[in-house]
Amino acid sequence: MFSEKSSEEVAVSPDANRWEAVLTVICTLSLATAWFGAHLGLLSPLLERILYVLAYISGGFFGAWEGLRALRRLELNIDFLMVVAALGAAAIGEWAEGATLLFLFSLSNTLQGYALGRSRKAIRALMDLRPAEALVRRDGREELVPVEALRVGDVVIVKPGERIPIDGQVLSGFTAVDQSTITGESMPVDKEPGDQVFAGTLNTTGVIEVEVTRPATDTTLAKIIQMVEQAQARKAPTQRFLEAFEPKYAAGVILGVLLFLAVSTLGGHQPFDSAFYRAMTLLVVASPCALVISTPAAILSAIANAARRGILFKGGAYLEQAATLEAIALDKTGTLTVGRPRVTDVVPAAEVLGEAWFDPQLAAELQPKGYDVPVRCTREELLGVAASAERYSEHPLAAAIVEAAHQANVPLDEVTETQAVPGQGVLARVDGREVRIGNWRFFEAARQIWPMPLQVLARQLEQEGKTVVFVSRENRPLGLIALADMVRPDAAPALAALRALGIRRIVMLTGDSHRVAEAVARQLDILEVYAELLPHQKVEIVERLAAQAPVAMVGDGVNDAPAMAVSHVGIAMGGAGTDVALETADVVLMADDLKRLPTLIRLARRARRIVWQNIAFSLAVIVVLVLSVFLFDLPLPLGVVGHEGSTLVVVFNGLRLLSGRES
Ligand code: ADP
Ligand code: MG
Repeated sequence: MFSEKSSEEVAVSPDANRWEAVLTVICTLSLATAWFGAHLGLLSPLLERILYVLAYISGGFFGAWEGLRALRRLELNIDFLMVVAALGAAAIGEWAEGATLLFLFSLSNTLQGYALGRSRKAIRALMDLRPAEALVRRDGREELVPVEALRVGDVVIVKPGERIPIDGQVLSGFTAVDQSTITGESMPVDKEPGDQVFAGTLNTTGVIEVEVTRPATDTTLAKIIQMVEQAQARKAPTQRFLEAFEPKYAAGVILGVLLFLAVSTLGGHQPFDSAFYRAMTLLVVASPCALVISTPAAILSAIANAARRGILFKGGAYLEQAATLEAIALDKTGTLTVGRPRVTDVVPAAEVLGEAWFDPQLAAELQPKGYDVPVRCTREELLGVAASAERYSEHPLAAAIVEAAHQANVPLDEVTETQAVPGQGVLARVDGREVRIGNWRFFEAARQIWPMPLQVLARQLEQEGKTVVFVSRENRPLGLIALADMVRPDAAPALAALRALGIRRIVMLTGDSHRVAEAVARQLDILEVYAELLPHQKVEIVERLAAQAPVAMVGDGVNDAPAMAVSHVGIAMGGAGTDVALETADVVLMADDLKRLPTLIRLARRARRIVWQNIAFSLAVIVVLVLSVFLFDLPLPLGVVGHEGSTLVVVFNGLRLLSGRES
C-alpha cells in the first residue's frame, strides 16, 4: 500500500527499517500459523483469533503510526486508509484477508526501505575508503595516529598502494594518484610537490609526504557525502507535486468508497457484507503508493550514480531540469580553456617604437597637452612591475605573470595598495608609483591614448588567440604582455556530444577581447560568442537566454557565480580544487573534464524517462485493479498483491539508475 516514504525518511532511518523487518517477520509467522493451524484443525478459535490480532498489530504498527501522525496534521494519508481497510475486513470477520493485507504492506515497505537505502549506502561506501589512521611525522618521529587527531600543518607519509588519509598538499615526492573516488576519473593523476591531494584517493606509485590542509571532518570527501545526502532530501518538483496530491487523493478515495458503499447497499443490489468487502478492496487498490514512490526511487538512484562519476547534483530539482536543457552557456577562461595561461610575449614599448618616442624633449612638450608619452624600460623591468602589481591578485592571468617573473628570476617590488577591477585589471602602487595593468577597456576608462604601433601589435597578438594586457606607470605606457591559454583537449568532443544530444544553442561568454574569444570559438565551432563582458553583463546575457529556453551556465565557479544563479542549472567545473565551486553551483563536476556535461544530461534524461515509466505504470495498474474490482469481483488478497507488486516494480525500476550504462 501507500508507503509515504519521503526521501529523508528513507535516508535517515535504517533503524526504523530494521524494526519494520522484525515486525514483518512476526506478522508472517503469526499469519502463517493461524492460517495453517485453522485449516488443519489444530487451533482453537480463540487461539486463532489471538494469532490474527498479533499479525494485525505487528503488520499494522508502522502504518497506523504514520497514519495517525498524518491525521494529527489533519491530513489523510494512505497508511491510514490501509489500516482502515484491514480493520474493516476484521469487522466483517475476514481476519485472514485483513492480516494478509497488512503483511504484504509491511513486507513491501521493508523491501522499499532496503532498496532505497542502497543508494544511500552507495555514497556511504565512499567514506569507508578513507583509512582510519595516518602515519605522521612529529618532532622527527613517525607515529600512527587516528585521522581525527590530525591537525592542519601535520606532515603525513603515504606509501604506494595506500589510500591518502586526509586533504593536503604534497611536500615532497612524486607519484600518480587514482582520484576516482572524488572525480570519477580512473586515470591516475601525476602529483608533484605543491599539488593538492584528497582524502580517500589511492596513491599508486611513489612515497609522498603530505602537509595536512584540512581537518578530517572537513575534507572534500566529507563535503561530497554531506552534499549528496542533502541533495537526496531536497525534492524534485514532480515528487513535491505527488506528495501534495496524496492527501487530496486519499480523501477522494475515502469519499468514493463511501459513495460506492452507500449506493450498493441502499440500492439493495448486494448484501452489506459483500459490498463492504468490495469497498475495502477498492480502498486498497485505488491507493497510489506506487505513484508516490515512483519519483524518489528513481531520483535517489540517479543522484547516487552521478556522484560516483564525480557529478554532484545539489538536489532532485536540478536533475529534472538538466533533462530539459536546450541551451548551454560556457565561460571561456578555465572552462573551455585549461585556465592556466602562460606568458608568451613580454614587449616593452621601446621594442616597437623608434628612438624618437623616448626623446625627453618630446615628453616635455606633449605631456602638458594630455598625451601619454611612453617610458623606456627593459623586459625584466616590465615583467617585474607587472608581476609586483599582480602579486596579490587571484586572477589566473595574474598568477601566470607572477610565475613568469619567478622563472626569469626577476625580483618583485614593494606594493602598498592594490585594487582589482573585475573583468578589467588591477591598479596598484608599486614602489610608490601608480601602476595600471589590464585590458584595453581599463585604459580607455583612464583616458589613456597609446601609440598606434603598440595598438597594432596588440591586435596581431590577439588574432593569434593570445590575451593581451597593457601596463602603464603613472599613466605612461611601459609595454604589453601577451598570454596564451590552451583550449582543453576534451572541449571539442564534449561540445560535439552536446550537439548530438540536441542542445541546439551553445554560447561562449567571456571577459576577454573579441579577437581572442573568436580565435577560441573558431577552434570549437561555437557560433554564438559574447566577449568583453563585465560580470554583470554575463548575468544579463544568461537572463536573456533563460527567458528563451532552459539554459545551463557552466563556469569555474569563482567569478561566474552570479550568472550561474540566474541560469536554470548552474554547473561548476573542477570542484575538487575549489570550495567556492562546491558551494555556489547547482551541479558540480568534480573532475576538470567537460565530457561529464553530456554524461550529466544523458543521466538526467534517463532518470526522467524512468520517472515517467513509473508514473504511467502506477496509474495503469490502479486503473486495471479498480476495474477488476467492479468487473470481476477481485478478491482482496489478489488486489493487495497487485498493488504492492506494482509498488515494488516501480522501486526496482528506479534502482536501475544506480548502475550506469553510459559513461
Ligand atoms: P573570463 O570571463 O574570460 O573568465 P574575466 O572576466 O576574469 O575573464 O576577465 C576579463 C578580462 O579582464 C581578462 O581577459 C583581462 O584582460 C582583464 N583582467 C581581469 N583581471 C585581470 C588581472 N588581474 N590582470 C590583468 N588583466 C585582468
Ligand atoms: Mg573566468
